[in-house]
Amino acid sequence: MNAHDSEKVIGTLLSQGYTQVAKPDEADLVLYNTCSIRDKAEQKVFHRLQEFKRHNRGKVFGVLGCVAQQEGERIFERAPHVSLVAGSASYAKLPEMLVQLESGNRRVTGLSLDNDQAFETPFTRRDNPHRAYITIIEGCDKSCAYCVVPFTRGPERSRTSESVLREARELARMGYIEIQLLGQNVNSYRDPSPAGWDFARLLRAMGEVDGIRRVRFTTSHPRDFVKEIIDAIDDNPVLCNHVHLPVQSGSSRVLARMQRLYTRDEYMRRIDWMKQARRNISITTDIIVGFPGETEEDFEQTLALLDEVEYDSLFGFKYSRRPNTAALDIADHISEEEKIRRLAIVQEKQRAIQIRRNSDLVGTVEETFVEGYNHATGQWIGRTSQNRTLNFVHPHVAGPRDGATLSGANLAGANLAGANLAGTSWSVRVTRAGPNSLAGEAVI
Ligand code: SAM
Ligand code: SF4
Repeated sequence: MNAHDSEKVIGTLLSQGYTQVAKPDEADLVLYNTCSIRDKAEQKVFHRLQEFKRHNRGKVFGVLGCVAQQEGERIFERAPHVSLVAGSASYAKLPEMLVQLESGNRRVTGLSLDNDQAFETPFTRRDNPHRAYITIIEGCDKSCAYCVVPFTRGPERSRTSESVLREARELARMGYIEIQLLGQNVNSYRDPSPAGWDFARLLRAMGEVDGIRRVRFTTSHPRDFVKEIIDAIDDNPVLCNHVHLPVQSGSSRVLARMQRLYTRDEYMRRIDWMKQARRNISITTDIIVGFPGETEEDFEQTLALLDEVEYDSLFGFKYSRRPNTAALDIADHISEEEKIRRLAIVQEKQRAIQIRRNSDLVGTVEETFVEGYNHATGQWIGRTSQNRTLNFVHPHVAGPRDGATLSGANLAGANLAGANLAGTSWSVRVTRAGPNSLAGEAVI
């Protein structure tokens, strides 16, 4: 989401006549987009701000994103060389704020969360020519005991389905083939227009947009995850067979203390829907270890859940204390060493699961979209619908010539020597599997 927020900010500023430069050294104005989900990310921001100050005298600095929203005007005290502080709910006002800076205002802030509309910008400058992000819902109405997001990104605001579909059609017209729908809880989407579509309905409509060949979405919240989402994926191969469904803990006791709004059994019911689907759905998750009061027995239940679900991948985090959150008041904080130990156990177990699951794919043929070329290994970098990295060799295309492109439309009969396959799709036979990626050869 942060990467896409930066794309929106860049596009907005370009539309106002600003020019983007390659390195901060070359800029007059440096905007730093930040994350405060864990304490480590936040500390990095202040460290980087000091670095910037040392090496970039005479420049105007702005801090954007969740650290800006959370720390507000305190940032001016900790980093007096900063002139602009703005959270994501204020990005639509950035051009106005920059005018204030240019007219000599030394301290400008955009911190209001009082915004009932999602930030729409027609000016987004996308980094990837083939895959585009679309935010469909911003903010979060849940209140997990460990999480700052409701404080930094404000309440939920959904875009109308009409505006989302208009953007998707425009992206298809521009040549994009893959769309990733974004939201803190993407499946809590509720169309604010009279149509009143839910997420499953929007997903089905996205799968019908002419020219779009893959649709992904992240992140889904288990509480709002309904079977209609799986039915939609089953009915249309354009909708990728991958669901990221963060569980956080395998213990219902910990889930209740986290205020996650589901039990382990309720979560497992959703996993069962996916396992019973017609398509082979890849499932990934987030785990927090060392939440206050997590006993050895609770932790064992998380490990047992990993064995039961057999995730295709997971993000594991040590619990990090965050300002304003309810978990600060829970007793029994767990030592850093113990969190490190539990995280290492989770990661080791998950690595073994991934080796096993990826090995099962050796010999299968997967439709693979090409994202680039790795000159060091001589392989094309591809991604499967299940979101697995599948690097492969192509019998006729050893690597791209400088500047060469090849669109999906002119593949048939094309002279492929030296072509750049990025943005095209191939059937690839998997020949090797590692814990984090697959390798194979294109089937011609
Ligand atoms: N909305 C999504 C959900 O509820 O599943 C997750 C969004 S959150 C930005 C991404 C992940 O960061 C969470 O799933 C959680 O695992 C992790 N996270 C959030 N707050 C954390 C904290 N205080 N300490 C450790 N991990 C945290
Ligand atoms: Fe944070 Fe919970 Fe909201 Fe996800 S649902 S963004 S973890 S508060």
